[in-house]
Order: sequence, then C-alpha cells, then structure tokens
Amino acid sequence: MEPERRILHVDMDAYFASVELLGREELHGKPVIVGGDPGFRSVVTSCTYEARKYGVHAGMPMTRALNLVPHAVILSGSFARYKTYSNRIFAVLLSFTPRVQATSIDEAFMDITGTPGGIIDRAMEIQEAVYEATSLWCTVGCGPNRLLAKMASNLNKPRGAGLLMPDDITDLPIGAIWGIGPSTADKLGMFGIDTIGKLRNLTRGTLRSVLGSSGEEIYRYARGIDDRPVQFFGYREPPKSMGHEHTFSQDVSAPEDYMPALAMVCQKTGCRVREGGWLGGVVTLKYRLRNMKRITRRRILASPTDQDQTILAAAEEMARGHIDQPIRLIGVSISHFVPSKTAQLSFFPEKTVELNRVADKVRNRYGDKAMVSGRALEYLQGNW
Ligand SMILES: [Mg+2]
Repeated sequence: MEPERRILHVDMDAYFASVELLGREELHGKPVIVGGDPGFRSVVTSCTYEARKYGVHAGMPMTRALNLVPHAVILSGSFARYKTYSNRIFAVLLSFTPRVQATSIDEAFMDITGTPGGIIDRAMEIQEAVYEATSLWCTVGCGPNRLLAKMASNLNKPRGAGLLMPDDITDLPIGAIWGIGPSTADKLGMFGIDTIGKLRNLTRGTLRSVLGSSGEEIYRYARGIDDRPVQFFGYREPPKSMGHEHTFSQDVSAPEDYMPALAMVCQKTGCRVREGGWLGGVVTLKYRLRNMKRITRRRILASPTDQDQTILAAAEEMARGHIDQPIRLIGVSISHFVPSKTAQLSFFPEKTVELNRVADKVRNRYGDKAMVSGRALEYLQGNW
C-alpha cells in the first residue's frame, strides 16, 4: 500500500562512530565508543553496533560503558569531521527534494510526495546515494507522516528501509510513540495499557484527564495521525516566546516607578529577538500583585517586530491601562515569531532599526548596560 503523503525519516547509523571508522579498517567489527575521557564524568556520544550488543548506548556514563565492554576502543570525537560529512549527506538528500528538514546533524525528514515508483524503492535509492557519497549507512523509515516514518526508521536500524502505515503499529509498545517517555508509559501502564492497540481503546477525555494537555496529541499519534509538514531545508523552529521580568524590592503602582524597569526588560527582550533573527507578532505584559496573583495581557502588533521601542510602546499601553494597584513584578514577552529575513518588508520601516543595530554592537562589546534608553537609564540609576 502506497501512502498519499510520502514522508521519509533518514537517520544515519551510529553516526559519530561510523565517521570515526572511515579509513580505519583495523577498527571494523570492533566495539568502538566515542566519548570523552572516562575520568571526567563524561558520557557516551555514539558507539558502534558491536558495542551496543553489550548494552552500551549514547548518554551512558563512560565508566559504566567500560565496565560493560572493558576491551572497547575509546575515541574522542572529531566534531569538525562530523559536520563535514553531515554537509555531504544533506547535499545528497537535497538532490532528491528541497523538502529536507534537518532535525539533527545526522537526521532529517524528507517529503517526496509526487515522485514516481514505490516509496521503499525511493528510500533505498536515497540510502545508496548517501552511501556512494560518504561510505556511511543510514536507515530510512517511510510513512504517510513524520510520526510513522520516524517509528519505521527506529524499527529498521541499521541499514534498513521500511514502511509503517497506521494499522501496522497496534502491537508496538506505547513507548514507540513520540512524546511517550518512561513516566508517561508508567502512568498508562497503571491502566494496563502497554501496546498502541490498547492505547486506542482510551477515549480523548480519558487521555486528557490522565496526561493533561499532551493527551490530545497522544490520542492522534496512537492512531498514526500526524499532520505536521516537512519544512524546507534551512527552516528553523521558532521559539515559543522570549521575555524578561523584573522583581521590585518594594511594591510599586505608579507608572514613573515601574516604567524604567519595563523599559529595561523590553530592551533585553528586543536584543534577544534580534540576535535570534526573529520578528515577534504578539507582546504579552505580565505582572504580579501583592497577593502573588499573576496577571497577563496580550496585544497583537500591526506587524511583527524586533524593536525594543515597539515592544515597550505596546507593553506601556497595556500597563497604563490595567495596572491599578501595587505590583511586585513586571515582565514582558514576545511570541508568534517569523524569521526576520523573510518577514514582509513594512511599508513604513520602524525608525529605530538603525539605532538598535548600533546599540547591539555597543552592547556586544561593552555589556547590555553600556547603551540604554533614557527610560532604562533611570532603571540603572535608581535602586529598583
Ligand atoms: Mg542517528
């Protein structure tokens, strides 16, 4: 059965260890572990399948790994080389489609919807092309979406290729699902739920009451449903929000008392947003009352921004409109980001862009208090 959307998950096999083995025939077939000096509480970054047979895995303390395989060959990583090979691997993947979404240095989703032939044949073609270019093997999971493709690559490691459709996963343990870690698996285990098939018997409502907000997602994943797109190469996942807050040494209620702090948190927020290369579309003001009650107000901007002054103007308006009693904390955050390079050019570019560009340079060199607005200056002079 051929899926409608054709999604692949390409995952290099034992990537770091395999790169280390390139051109070193004498290490082939041996348990090789990449990681730091065992004396320094380091952990395993990668290991060959020969080492995995002894129970070694990435993230394990090196001392423990050496107890399991005392004769293992230990290598310290050569990250520049991993990056070089990664670039070659991605160049190969991009020769098939621009829809290559990297999820790490050695892992990517691909969307090959619309290509002719069977999906498994395409997957093996990609696998061989990567091997041709790098002498490194990968596993390619195939599915109608990212979830099933990723589950398929996990099941087919190493050097495998396989397809999973929603009905193929019912016998798998619930831990195979994205987002079900050991603690969630334990919670569901108390209900006698150990396989995905059994998980499908739980209603949305039950899952939501047991797992909270992630219950809805787990409900869909259990059915093999996942609508997330595969993004184009170079796509960066925007952060959920960025912000700063300030706690006053004494409660304040007058604008002249909280505005300097608000100006400062807006400046810090703007700097971070620019540094990340984002523009945010929603400004949230938050403050905490004397009784610790936390209040938030949100404003959607006319167009997304990375300018302190624009963030401050929105925050100030909300603060003046809503703060009518003493507060002990004030903060601002910005969210709903788009990358600043592709953001639509505003017809009226913000006047402060050039000023902030210079200010960022000064602050990078001399610290974030080296150049501040008049309002934030009061913050530095006062004893807030
Ligand atoms: Mg990998």
